[in-house]
Amino acid sequence: MKILVMNCGSSSLKYQLIDMKDEKVLAKGLVERIGIDGSILTHKVNDQKHIVKQPMKDHKIAVKLVLDALVDKKYGVIGSMSEISAVGHRIVHGGEKYARSVLIDEKVMKAIEDCIPLAPLHNPPNIVGINACRELMPNTPMVGVFDTAFHQTMPNYAYIYPLPYELYKEYKIRKYGFHGTSHRFVSMEAAKLMGRDIKDLKIITCHLGNGASICAVDKGKSVDTSMGFTPLAGLAMGTRCGDIDPAVIPYLVNTADMSINDIDVLMNKKSGILGVSGVSSDFRDVESAANSGNERANLALNLYYHRVKSFIGAYAAVLNGVDALVFTAGLGENSATSRAAICSGLSYLGIKIDSEKNNIRGKAQEISTPDSKVKVFVIPTNEELMIARDTKEIVENSRK
Ligand code: ADP
Repeated sequence: MKILVMNCGSSSLKYQLIDMKDEKVLAKGLVERIGIDGSILTHKVNDQKHIVKQPMKDHKIAVKLVLDALVDKKYGVIGSMSEISAVGHRIVHGGEKYARSVLIDEKVMKAIEDCIPLAPLHNPPNIVGINACRELMPNTPMVGVFDTAFHQTMPNYAYIYPLPYELYKEYKIRKYGFHGTSHRFVSMEAAKLMGRDIKDLKIITCHLGNGASICAVDKGKSVDTSMGFTPLAGLAMGTRCGDIDPAVIPYLVNTADMSINDIDVLMNKKSGILGVSGVSSDFRDVESAANSGNERANLALNLYYHRVKSFIGAYAAVLNGVDALVFTAGLGENSATSRAAICSGLSYLGIKIDSEKNNIRGKAQEISTPDSKVKVFVIPTNEELMIARDTKEIVENSRK
């Protein structure tokens, strides 16, 4: 069974065609600048790149070009579109409606639309992408995989904010959490690497990329996570501030003559590692500036590590113990210095890492010492594969 995985943004589209027989990626690619000048498709098979530059006024044209590339005689990987058994779509927000992935039908489309106010930048392009695929592949089943779904198992005392309860009922204001597909994938992989049933494990997963979040996973279920109503909450991130005292907002309105919109941009785009260091939102730049003696870069990193560490401590308490700690995404997979700094001083929790084993990048490996009570892992995330696995399972079950 071959599954096409789609991730549509407002002007971009990422895709992978995966053969589920051996979970091998047959082809993958990226369309950029959809609807704007300079539209470009980069299609990759193994290490061979094929580039298509032509105007793409909307997602339907972009999807059509992706399908053409997949069946192309020269650089395609399948004989005809009928070889694509199903399409798995990444969808950012499923609200409270979806706790797992689903076969897309009209009811599901309506529910994704209903969630637009909760994810105004993300759900609309997801809908456009699904509609384009449905028009071009009317007989191919489509599955929706939601970023929020994994966290729907949080107990109400973890997701309700201490605001008047009516705001939850009336405006759906609560913690939803994001990166769910990634937290689910790496927690399952950690259980596999441990040779244990996930139902017997307490795992803390740290997704540390441009956006960053931590999740407490008990018996395979998310019981708390650091992102909230939006992906702005929790850890400090590349450009996002994460948790701050909410009173800073009215204070800035009243004393710095800033509008709510200015503050929104400030908190999302100008804060975090970029805001504190003044150097960059990319950890590589900030690490190298800190190594050259830049004090604000050093402060930004220390603040970042401190916050990750605080959440690990909090989630060890939430879980009443921890069997495994997992690092994933750009920083988590690649930065040995960050992992070492975050894990230092956590021996009271039984976390000890081996500096030699920790000296790896981008591959799944245990990095804890043999006497560490908590196993620590680096596990590259693979949201596309998780989406493809869900899609396969749902489509197969729907045929039974
Ligand atoms: P996104 O949230 O955009 O998917 P990624 O998971 O790709 O982000 O993470 C991107 C971030 O990972 C970069 O901004 C960079 O800060 C960090 N990163 C990637 N490689 C390294 C590295 N070798 N050392 C330190 N940081 C890295």
